[in-house]
Amino acid sequence: NLLIYSLDFITLPDDVKIRNMNHDERENSGMGKRNRNRFNMLCDIGDLSALLSGSHDIEGFLQCAVDLVARHLDADVCSIYLYDEVSEDLVLKATVGLNPEAVGRVRMKPGEGLVGSTFLHLRPFREASASKNPVFKYFEETQEERFESFLAVPIQRGIQKIGVLVVQHENPDSFTETDVMALRASAAQLASAIENARLLIDLYKATGKRPATDSLTEEPRFIKGMSASGGYALAPAAVFRKSHVDLLTRPGRWDRTYTVDDFHAALEKTSAQLIDLQNRLTERLPESVSLIFTAHFMILKDSKFINKIVQLIDKGISPPDAVKTIARQYIQIFSASPHAYIREKVSDMEDLAGRIIKNFSSPKTESRARTNGGHIVIAGEIYPSEILKLASEEIQGIVLVKGGVTSHVSILARSLKIPMIIADQSDLLHLPEGTPVLLDASIGNIYIHPSEEVVQHFEKQYRIQKAAAVLPKPIAPETRTRDGIRIHLMANVNLLSELETTRNLNAEGIGLYRTEFPFLIRPAFPSEEEQYMIYKRIFDEMEKRPVTIRTLDIGGDKALVYANTTSGLNPDLGLRSIRFSLRHRNIFEQQIRAVLRSAAADDNLRIMFPMISSIDEFQEARKMVQMCMADLEREQLPCHRSPAIGMMVEVPAVVPLIDAFAREADFFSIGTNDFVQYTLAVDRTNEKVSDYYCPEHPAVLRGLHQIVRAAVSAGKDVSVCGEMAHEPEFIPFLIGIGVRTLSIDPQFLPAVQERIAALKFSDAQQHAELLLAEITLRGVRQILSRQDGLTLV
Ligand code: PEP
Ligand code: MG
Repeated sequence: NLLIYSLDFITLPDDVKIRNMNHDERENSGMGKRNRNRFNMLCDIGDLSALLSGSHDIEGFLQCAVDLVARHLDADVCSIYLYDEVSEDLVLKATVGLNPEAVGRVRMKPGEGLVGSTFLHLRPFREASASKNPVFKYFEETQEERFESFLAVPIQRGIQKIGVLVVQHENPDSFTETDVMALRASAAQLASAIENARLLIDLYKATGKRPATDSLTEEPRFIKGMSASGGYALAPAAVFRKSHVDLLTRPGRWDRTYTVDDFHAALEKTSAQLIDLQNRLTERLPESVSLIFTAHFMILKDSKFINKIVQLIDKGISPPDAVKTIARQYIQIFSASPHAYIREKVSDMEDLAGRIIKNFSSPKTESRARTNGGHIVIAGEIYPSEILKLASEEIQGIVLVKGGVTSHVSILARSLKIPMIIADQSDLLHLPEGTPVLLDASIGNIYIHPSEEVVQHFEKQYRIQKAAAVLPKPIAPETRTRDGIRIHLMANVNLLSELETTRNLNAEGIGLYRTEFPFLIRPAFPSEEEQYMIYKRIFDEMEKRPVTIRTLDIGGDKALVYANTTSGLNPDLGLRSIRFSLRHRNIFEQQIRAVLRSAAADDNLRIMFPMISSIDEFQEARKMVQMCMADLEREQLPCHRSPAIGMMVEVPAVVPLIDAFAREADFFSIGTNDFVQYTLAVDRTNEKVSDYYCPEHPAVLRGLHQIVRAAVSAGKDVSVCGEMAHEPEFIPFLIGIGVRTLSIDPQFLPAVQERIAALKFSDAQQHAELLLAEITLRGVRQILSRQDGLTLV
């Protein structure tokens, strides 16, 4: 079966014959020993995959494979080269026939020599006389000069390039077309065996059924993820929510007898630590005020909780164990709750109990319990409020095994300047505590057990970067293209802590303030007064520069734990954003009132509604603003009287009606993050379809063009505030179609200004025309990569 499966897709007549003959027929057919051996070889490799999938030793597996292939193909040499993504080299991993000492030492770049070329071009390479091929490269360590016939095939699994399988023979021209085919089929089976072996190894690591050998768990591993928030980190790993769970489930080993007084002392110490943490957090995140640890404080002060523990201590149970027992009871109750906001308390309880136990001041317990501080946190799902707690503990970085780079947790991580990578690798959740991890988060590279070489390389780079990382210089007050077209650069602000950078860098104003963040990071809806204080701070700090306040954009991946905003199977298509506000009018009203009041002394307020999908919806939302203004006037409360009222363009339904919208709205801001998601029907938070998330899709580009054209001809201001606005490859297109305002994360301001200053508007126009004429992704990508039409300086 394996043979048939392997050869099914290859249609050489000889093999069809082989496939249809029985053993004796083949023996008698005169096709000879080599063909039969090929048959055996493929079966054996099939068996081998099954056999060795339980093996821990991938090197041993590879050695068996090369022996087998060499034997059955009558080859003098068989070797496997695997691609090392860290060093970007092909490395000789196993050989029979070449000098065994060359294993691990012979390395080449893709494209280098015959092996490198096979890998780069993903095509078999058959040479009658290898040394005569100009591409041939001789590696002294291998002592391979005497082998003339050469045949190599790539080892590939799906889209993943794994390595190269090579056979060689002393006699020239020994390999036939049929050998090529057989070797290809072998390589296909080897690829799946290599993958299975890796998978099982990871599984054992995860379940602990078979303790992985040290050599394997400590083997450097490289994972390619997606950058969600840039930066560099090198720290031990901590799996989110796991450490305290371990602490609460493992039997305690306490090195001395504790008393009830020790328990009370531990409570006091915990309380003092939390107050300190909260103060630090409040400084860093003014909008969170003191509410992040509310649940902790409530439990700490709960006499029932304390009494239950004391009762157990009175019965002779050691105090740390008593804390564990009662914490477990609470956790059980919380996790069984149908309400998300109660289930969320599980992590609060775990966190709190872990802290209390840690505060029984024995060195042994100290080392067993910890916070996440100083670690790279590996997490499955995570709430924005949890990211804040982690930020307050000063974690070094986050690896998220679920999520998308434009998801709001990613946006928050960027605002908090925590390096973060998203990688679809749930086995990481079983990474042993303390495993060294290095993140090169700007490009999404994760190194588990990084080698000394890798660490040194990054440490050096990091030192250089740090030395050069003087605070970014403020941008020039005016941004212009090379031929003098004025572009306005505004900032996207999520947290109040970003206002300082926004001002210092000289942003012309705020093009998008995401009001949902104060809602997301709290355990309950902020009141009108609380919101007023937050918004007021923005106007005060921005000193008359335009401020665009976007009304609540909740739902989708921006789930409030205290309101059931994630209900529905497709939350992004559900009661999200303006729909939520129009459905919960009291919340909407409080927000609009807070906004209007906070800008009373300023004339720079712009109110913007997110996710508008019909004219009616826009009019209804605008009516709410008018009603609030009338109410505030009646109440004689100072408020802004004439805000500009605009909308986000995120839903494709707006595009065919864009001229009508342009008559209604005072301004547009294009939210490309969602516009791409909805136009292409691809979840922006799902890493599994991230390759479908293509801002360069011709439908997206044409949609953007239509929107901008309509706005410009109606004389309405139009900006872009999604991620596309800071991406260097899209800036020429956006300017070329007539966008004059970009709103971006403040840290990108200098680079974007520089990009624009190097650009000629006339070129950008031409470049945009070329892009708009394209109908395929491939065509668009070619133009973008060649920067057709652009002459940059
Ligand atoms: C967008 O969708 O592009 C946008 C800016 O809004 P958010 O990322 O907050 O959904
Ligand atoms: Mg959006």
